[in-house]
Amino acid sequence: KEIDQLTENEANDLAVQLRSTLDKWSDQYYTKDAPDVEDYVYDEKYNDLLELEQAFPSIITPDSITQRVGGKVLEGFSKVTHEEPMLSMGDVFSREELTEFDNRIQKNIGHAVDYNVELKIDGLAISLIYENGELVQGSTRGDGNIGEDITKNLRTITSIPRTLTRPVSLEVRGECYMPKEAFAKLNVKQLEAGKEVFANPRNAAAGSLRQLDTSITKSRKLDTFIYTLMAVENFNPTTQHEAIQTMEELGFHTNPTQQICHNLDEVWEYIAKYQKVRDELPYGIDGIVLKVNDLSLQAKLGHTIKVPRWEIAYKFPPEEEATVVRDIEWTV
Ligand code: NAD
Repeated sequence: KEIDQLTENEANDLAVQLRSTLDKWSDQYYTKDAPDVEDYVYDEKYNDLLELEQAFPSIITPDSITQRVGGKVLEGFSKVTHEEPMLSMGDVFSREELTEFDNRIQKNIGHAVDYNVELKIDGLAISLIYENGELVQGSTRGDGNIGEDITKNLRTITSIPRTLTRPVSLEVRGECYMPKEAFAKLNVKQLEAGKEVFANPRNAAAGSLRQLDTSITKSRKLDTFIYTLMAVENFNPTTQHEAIQTMEELGFHTNPTQQICHNLDEVWEYIAKYQKVRDELPYGIDGIVLKVNDLSLQAKLGHTIKVPRWEIAYKFPPEEEATVVRDIEWTV
């Protein structure tokens, strides 16, 4: 049956089934760091649920995965309440959907905008808080509102500065990831020790960071790219592009591939360029992120309960990713 031929009851039954499957997969992915299925399989089901709920808004429940950030806080870690929620991100899979996103932005703002385009690093989101230039707290996204306090673990990562170049107080957010080489070596070690291998670098990073024994984290060679400066009004940048430069000056490890695009043709060129070279990058990416560059326009657009309205991820087609992961896992 097509979606518009369903009765509300049928739609509701389907939604209940989809949520149950997605919740099961999310638990494996976020809590156990051992996914049952590839991301694109999850993404397809997630989008089916989203479409169903959009066609029948009355069936939406507050605990539906479309209404909350996936992820839970593991036992054993102290909890951290995020002053600003750490949100998820909307995603698109085609140029057509990208155009729809751009049209929505233009309609809201009233004119065309510049985008800062960045690589979507395949790791997990972290928050870092500094007081007078000193690192005081680091945490995971958790369920978006409450994350895990992993300060000690994050202190073992050499690219995270303990002290900034200026004695400022701030919060930044970014991605913690496991470089491909470290991932390949880790899986060899896991195999040799008769332990389970990690399905992909993202899960390996998440599993390595959420360790009660920080010496394990230290041995895992994690790295970071920082991309969000919170409460940016306290600083000089007026654009996302400048904010990344400011964070670099403060001592953070930022990704050098960010680029300002003035239109979707330029965005599409960026996508084509990195889709081609993604296998050669020393870290995993699962797409690119498009962010409205002007920070005052970002504030104007705001966010939904789950995602910012001013950014979207374009996800690469799945085949290559699956191949890359398998190659690394089985050929070393
Ligand atoms: P997401 O990972 O698709 O996107 C949001 C995240 O992107 C942010 O939290 C941030 O950590 C990251 N990111 C990387 N580079 C970034 C950059 N330059 N700028 C901003 N953010 C950047 O969304 P999510 O809510 O974390 O997770 C949902 C996704 O997780 C799904 O789309 C799916 O692919 C995957 N997932 C897979 C399974 C599975 O079973 N395979 C289960 C649950 C979720």
